[in-house]
Amino acid sequence: MNVTDDKTIVKDYFNSTGFDRWRRIYGDGEVNKVQLDIRNGHQQTVDTVISWLTADNNLAGMSICDAGCGVGSLSIPLAQAGAKVYASDISDKMVEEAKERALNTLGQGENPTFAVQDLETLSGSYHTVICLDVLIHYPQDKAAEMISHLCSLSQSRLILSFAPKTFALSILKKIGSFFPGPSKATRAYLHREADVVKILESNGFSVQRQSMTKTSFYFSRLLEANRSS
Ligand code: SAM
Repeated sequence: MNVTDDKTIVKDYFNSTGFDRWRRIYGDGEVNKVQLDIRNGHQQTVDTVISWLTADNNLAGMSICDAGCGVGSLSIPLAQAGAKVYASDISDKMVEEAKERALNTLGQGENPTFAVQDLETLSGSYHTVICLDVLIHYPQDKAAEMISHLCSLSQSRLILSFAPKTFALSILKKIGSFFPGPSKATRAYLHREADVVKILESNGFSVQRQSMTKTSFYFSRLLEANRSS
């Protein structure tokens, strides 16, 4: 399967069964135990990113690109904290939902701005580029291209999360819970941290902060890399 096929599958998934599933997981309504575990794990990742950014005390007016923004779980609180957020996602349905949530939460539709776009076609220049839990949709041999593109959009910092290869066995056992039923056609890819770090370094970035969120059904390694050259 090539990356175009993967992308079409991912896009279709997040416009159909995946949309319904992840909209619920990334919400506050009733969900089953597995979904609740994933919701809590994901929220920890979002909270860690927000705590890193607020600790630096320079969030007001900072330009942030949230690539693969989903329903706006990170974009909305970042805009609320004063950042100028450019959010995009390959799925129209996710973007539609994100826009609605932003309007309900923030009472305005100007910031974040939302666009339906494949992250690899994004252009522009942002102080910070963030891409959370999207690499799981990228095969290893396509990760370098994708991460390098995100680096090219970033003036100063890239924050990236991925499911680490070290937990391969435990994750693979549980992966059915990530993509149950008909959506099993959507593949989940794990990435070796050493490979990700090497790609970042080859683009002139070095890792400054790192974190790991690990619950029963959610595994996410989070890296903050700053431009060093
Ligand atoms: N980053 C969000 C968050 O943490 O709340 C959403 C994470 S969700 C697991 C993965 C998201 O990545 C989905 O909304 C999906 O549509 C999006 N996605 C997958 N491949 C993409 C691509 N090539 N370009 C843009 N978005 C993509």
